Amino acid sequence: MDCDVIPDGMDYQGVVIRPPSEAGSILLQATLGCSHNKCTFCGTYKDKRFRLKDQDTILADLRFARQYSRRQRRLFIMDGDALVMPHDKLVWLLQEIKEYLPWVTRVGLYANAKSVRLKTDEQLRQYVELGVGIAYYGVETGHRQLLKKIKKGSTPETLIAQGKRLKQAGMKLSVTVLLGIGGRAFSEPHARATGELLSALDPEYVGALTLMVLDNTELGQDYLAGRFEPPGTRELLLELRQMLAATDLAPGHMFFSNHASNYLPIKVVYPQGRAEALRLIDQALSGEVGLRPEWMRAL
Ligand code: SF4
Repeated sequence: MDCDVIPDGMDYQGVVIRPPSEAGSILLQATLGCSHNKCTFCGTYKDKRFRLKDQDTILADLRFARQYSRRQRRLFIMDGDALVMPHDKLVWLLQEIKEYLPWVTRVGLYANAKSVRLKTDEQLRQYVELGVGIAYYGVETGHRQLLKKIKKGSTPETLIAQGKRLKQAGMKLSVTVLLGIGGRAFSEPHARATGELLSALDPEYVGALTLMVLDNTELGQDYLAGRFEPPGTRELLLELRQMLAATDLAPGHMFFSNHASNYLPIKVVYPQGRAEALRLIDQALSGEVGLRPEWMRAL
């Protein structure tokens, strides 16, 4: 460990995002952007070319966190897919986190099937031993044709197989799916296929976000040109209902739609919670329960 001066803040470059459940975590930006950066709906990292940040910048951030983040027990590594870092660099980073911030009990990161594929089972287990406790895994949909259309770069089989490897290595898995990504045309098949994929993968957590069409994306351009028609609010609720009804998770596993982008926040703990949530969605469909107004929705 070095004894250089403590910087007056952590180094954040460009737009930075983290999962809602990491709101209280130390946010360490170790990579910039996303190595894939091709998904047609995603505008988050359009302004960044993927690269690893240099070790001095990372160490300066860790010095800052050592001084000012003593109460935060969790750390989240940004940006888009930190798991794509070369193995030796990721091991170095996790060892430094342990050295500088020994009170941190869980490290989290985003992962996608392409980056998991680059790692051996042994390497994944090593990350768990070095503190990685949870991976946030972007699935978006379980529908084969739709995965191709949105340029996710994975098939349903790959998403299931690589997600299972994360679980087998000992990481908790939090999967993101995207309501509305199929547009009106694919709403029902998207819901059904995504429920099937989630049931096969059985992650600890599922977070259902609602698509927000952004102008700076390929999908946004399709929308403006009339080639993509997003589902309306009622169709999105039906989609959520169909997806939830098709999703079987192990007892204690959870399905959330409480992200700020959603019209109806739900939190389901399996197995009991699902029937209750389906009733709540039915009440929203019949107008008995109010929805989040459009102006309050956000990414
Ligand atoms: S959705 Fe995830 S994998 Fe796709 S471009 Fe955005 S950050 Fe990268």
